[in-house]
Amino acid sequence: MSRFLEPADEALHTRLGVWIDQDLCTGDGLCVDHVPSVFTILEDGIAYCKEEIVFRNAAGAPTGVREKVFNDPGGGAELAIVPVELEAEVIQAASVCPGECIFVEIPNASPQLDESTIEESAA
Ligand code: SF4
Repeated sequence: MSRFLEPADEALHTRLGVWIDQDLCTGDGLCVDHVPSVFTILEDGIAYCKEEIVFRNAAGAPTGVREKVFNDPGGGAELAIVPVELEAEVIQAASVCPGECIFVEIPNASPQLDESTIEESAA
């Protein structure tokens, strides 16, 4: 599984990010049961997000996989990017998390709306 998309897909899709507030995590592991390639439990018994990065050769064939675990407790500054094919599962895991501590966000989303676009659309 790769965090990278084909260019055409990337243009059409806004990626989701996910993070966990470890202060609220109960350590029950439900998120790992739901999406083991996005969530993991570390030695402290608490859940963390991770990304799987696939390395490829010049021909595009996978040559290896490395995990990056976002192990900064309570850190929402670094979002793990959710693979497109796992977005529904990650959202489901967040919705049933007993600690209510899984947060799904759109990285770098701007809270400001473009009013000219809204007016044009409404016309
Ligand atoms: S489901 Fe929620 S409370 Fe349970 S281990 Fe995962 S993040 Fe922690």
